[in-house]
Amino acid sequence: MTHRIILASGNRHKVQELQQLFHEGGLEDVELVPMTEVVGAIEIDETGSTFEENAFIKAEAIHAITGLPVLADDSGLCVDILDGAPGVRSARFAGTGATDADNRAALRTALCDRGAASSPAQFVCVLWYIDSLRSFGVIGDSRGHIHAEERGEGGFGYDPMFVPTGSKRTYAEHSSQEKSDSSHRGVASRKLIQRLAQIRNDAPSLPADAELTLDDLCRASVAAVGADTLLLRTIAAKVSNAKQATRLYEAMLQTYLFAGFPTALEALSIISNAFTAAGISLPDGIEDYNVPEFTARGETLCREVYGHVYEKLMQRFESVSPSMRSWMITEGYGKTLSRAGLLVRERELCIVCMLAALEKPAQLYSHVRGAMNIGADSDDLAVCVNVVVEQCGKDKGLALRTIVQGLLGRDRT
Ligand code: IMP
Repeated sequence: MTHRIILASGNRHKVQELQQLFHEGGLEDVELVPMTEVVGAIEIDETGSTFEENAFIKAEAIHAITGLPVLADDSGLCVDILDGAPGVRSARFAGTGATDADNRAALRTALCDRGAASSPAQFVCVLWYIDSLRSFGVIGDSRGHIHAEERGEGGFGYDPMFVPTGSKRTYAEHSSQEKSDSSHRGVASRKLIQRLAQIRNDAPSLPADAELTLDDLCRASVAAVGADTLLLRTIAAKVSNAKQATRLYEAMLQTYLFAGFPTALEALSIISNAFTAAGISLPDGIEDYNVPEFTARGETLCREVYGHVYEKLMQRFESVSPSMRSWMITEGYGKTLSRAGLLVRERELCIVCMLAALEKPAQLYSHVRGAMNIGADSDDLAVCVNVVVEQCGKDKGLALRTIVQGLLGRDRT
């Protein structure tokens, strides 16, 4: 599956450069998408006084609009003899709308005004990444000297004036590969890629033979409650064996608890048509209707899911309707959610997606907490948020994201 990250920049040069670095860093399945392709050409005011602030402002703005993972960069040149100028104003040192040549001329004038033909300087690049659960920045720098005299035809911006430490040539005289080996952007990108790869490695592994992923199951659950027949058929068409068919069947069966029997029946009939067409038969048979056993396993699971609020919840059910208490334990948790064929964690995460789609905030909150109580972590929940954003739109996605972030605590480093 391809993971899309929106790049908060319309600059194709940067997209290509970063995409190349992602490939080299082993993240071949990440597709960087220029923001212009998703939100069109919008202006974001870079009102920060540091590269970090500006990168964050851009990433946050695009993430707020799209709800999707976003990467933003901000970079510039800091010249020692100019007390760090042009800094965050590098792109507009000679005024709004200035060209690279205008900015270089302004820099030459500023150096002359100080009576200097050169000065120690550094390029700085900050990359800020935001997804539904994470927000962090990485910084890269490249030290060297800036010279009033220009040399070389390659690169862009201040490259013809900058000689990095350890070289006699300007960046404009470097090949692009040579430049990115030492440049501020190259350094920051490698740090970012390492961090993203780490996040991925930390992700818990669902069953090794799971051709049908958590993402598929969550999407199917949302499709079932939203009557998205086409999506459900597409997911069912991925199923290639009885074990995977059972996983999808179980996810669809449990939808009756949240969306009613007709909805579940419709979803089940769509997937069983697909299974029949593919020659896959589901393991047959109805589980014995053993009420004491359902009650016992329902109580065990319900305690695990609700943790320390279990007793309080039971009291509330008991005072409102003892029948409802018994149904929830015996039928909900015992008969349905304890069934084999699908991990309880996957069941809860599918339920989270359904409740987000159905806009049930109170139940959603307790099921996100329940999923966490039985081992779902930030990567699992990121899958849910992503599915809801993509299948149900930004508002429902952000509602889920807010709940998830509230329960997880936000990681901003
Ligand atoms: P931004 O990061 O797109 O806002 O670019 C800031 C400005 O800093 C650019 O327009 C360039 O003038 C300058 N700059 C950033 N990185 C480089 C570089 O690698 N070489 C030359 N100039 C750069």
